[in-house]
Amino acid sequence: MSASASAPPRQLPALEPDTAFFWTAGAEGRLKISRCQDCGRYQHPPLPRCPTCGGEVAPEPVSGRGRVATFTINQQAWVPGLAVPFVFAAVELAEQAELYVFTNIIGCPPEDVRIGMPVEVSFEPHGEIYLPLFQPTGGADVG
Ligand SMILES: [Zn+2]
Repeated sequence: MSASASAPPRQLPALEPDTAFFWTAGAEGRLKISRCQDCGRYQHPPLPRCPTCGGEVAPEPVSGRGRVATFTINQQAWVPGLAVPFVFAAVELAEQAELYVFTNIIGCPPEDVRIGMPVEVSFEPHGEIYLPLFQPTGGADVG
């Protein structure tokens, strides 16, 4: 059975106990980020405790919106059949400064990607894994 015949081949993450929620939350249509239950700080990648106050952390849904902080255009097909070029980017989430998700930008030609471009999450299902990719929102640049 092919979970997603139309999705391009990608390297999929291993589902580890501390990070599985991040890769599977797309099944509910929401991006989830680990958040301190004491001070409210988001942390990604997730850590067992809050790096700021040592408090308990738990995954919480976020808006799924952000902006392109940095990006590179990758011309190399790392796995057979991988569509190139593609854009590898750090997306700074709207919830917190310097809260980055490393992802691919989809939904526009690679040459159209700009630093500061507003983007929103778009999940690409691969079985139980929902890769959080980001696409332009069409809005004005931020930051
Ligand atoms: Zn904290």
